Amino acid sequence: MPEVLDAPSMAAATEQFISGEHQLFINNMWVDASSNEMLNVINPASGETIATVSAASAEDIDAAVNAARQAFDHGPWRTMGATARAELLLKLADLVAAQGQTFAETEVLCTGMPMATAAAMAPIVARDWLRYYAGWATKISGETLAQDPLPFPGAATESFLMTRKEPVGVAAQIVPWNFPLGMTIMKLGPALAAGCTVVLKPDEHTPLSALLLARLTKEAGFPDGVINIVPGYGHVAGAALAEHPLVDKISFTGSTEVGRKIVDACKGNLKKVTLELGGKSPFIVMPDADLTKAIPMAVMQGYFLQGQNCVCPSRMLVHHSIYDQFIEGVKAGAESLMIGPGLNPETTLGPLVSARQLSRVQSYVDAGKAEGAELISGGAALDRPGHFMPPTLFAGCNREMKIVREEIFGPVLTVTKLATDDIAEVIDYANDTVYGLNGSVWTENIGTAMRISSGVRSGIVGINAHTMSDIHGGLGGYKQSGWGREMGSESLDAYLETKTVIMHY
Ligand code: NAD
Repeated sequence: MPEVLDAPSMAAATEQFISGEHQLFINNMWVDASSNEMLNVINPASGETIATVSAASAEDIDAAVNAARQAFDHGPWRTMGATARAELLLKLADLVAAQGQTFAETEVLCTGMPMATAAAMAPIVARDWLRYYAGWATKISGETLAQDPLPFPGAATESFLMTRKEPVGVAAQIVPWNFPLGMTIMKLGPALAAGCTVVLKPDEHTPLSALLLARLTKEAGFPDGVINIVPGYGHVAGAALAEHPLVDKISFTGSTEVGRKIVDACKGNLKKVTLELGGKSPFIVMPDADLTKAIPMAVMQGYFLQGQNCVCPSRMLVHHSIYDQFIEGVKAGAESLMIGPGLNPETTLGPLVSARQLSRVQSYVDAGKAEGAELISGGAALDRPGHFMPPTLFAGCNREMKIVREEIFGPVLTVTKLATDDIAEVIDYANDTVYGLNGSVWTENIGTAMRISSGVRSGIVGINAHTMSDIHGGLGGYKQSGWGREMGSESLDAYLETKTVIMHY
């Protein structure tokens, strides 16, 4: 069992921001929820309430959408030049970077992620990602195209045809709890660069970093109604946002189950939809893999954010010749992790986000044991305050098992022995899932790497790497992992319409 640590206290600036009650951010103003309903933000490391936040009702969502609609249709945002939009994003990046420590500690206190992760990610997502999108604002362009002469008597002989890229309108964005600041910026950045206005609903467990960001958007000078941040419960605020007839586009990240509900809710006005859903990503270790690299990456990415990450390599497929060595290495790596509250700088595995998520993960672990998978490490929630599950490793898994088929979203890795040397069969194993978000192959053979990486049906494939992609690339899935792409240039397309303009003369 890995060592278990205690929590130090947070910085005074973070305590000052977090403590007390938080309101909704609508039309550049702080307002109470119309129902006066509050939601409790709970520190997953202790189970204690650390803040209360107004919970948006359908009425509040309506107010936020109307503010965004008004700002899009009639506000200064619509006519503001792209350079001015870029400057606002750059200013926001600077303000966020200046509060890096408060953002990092807020993320830790709401999600449970280790401070080392939060501290490393806060500047990247805030400064680099916002700057990346600021750069795009001035580079959105259409095309000029050839047009054939029209075959009608008297038709103009000369014509001009061009496309313009225009913002899609009011964008609704629904964010999950596992990586709140990153997801918030990943969604706000392209929408604002494209010239949309936004209503963003953070997850009910982790609304605080988005509210801190809201303060800074006001300070940066974004016009009224351009950015609205409305924490609330999914079945109330999220559902109202997804159904709202004045929303033009919705971007959702979360469970596949709720993704289906979003699609249903969008039918009313046929709003555009992008979905980033679950995954069950294969981590394929071939006989010639460099295990000195593959094993540490399996541990690092497998237990990253306590396994609560959509690109987690939760389905390990390992060639029989190196199977025992691989399991021994991952077991040792898992057991060297330091479990504790994220605020402790030594922690490398924090708590799960909520009691509900802990019990969900525990039920998968119990299913694994019942199905006959071999428990190598971990396997039972810790008997202490907070939502702690040790790093858990199952070997001897097969493709029929529930723990191999379903997304667990916890620190639980499954290892299946590949009893074949046939690459086509390996690819078949990797693709035996309803998901297609991420995957990786570990081999020193370039031919094997290329065959497997082109055969695996997923939005990202790593060769001797397993990660989330990069802001310059794309994040999104094949099959039931979603529709569309976040990050990279494609994320802009999701917030743009193409208008064809034809002129005869
Ligand atoms: P969820 O899908 O319920 O929540 C994600 C977001 O959707 C939250 O903001 C929530 O308020 C909102 N939401 C919930 N119901 C809604 C509805 N009817 N209409 C509109 N919005 C709604 O996720 P969860 O229940 O917190 O987690 C369950 C599982 O989902 C996890 O175990 C994991 O498998 C998966 N998940 C995936 C991701 C991801 O990054 N792809 C993130 C979080 C959770």
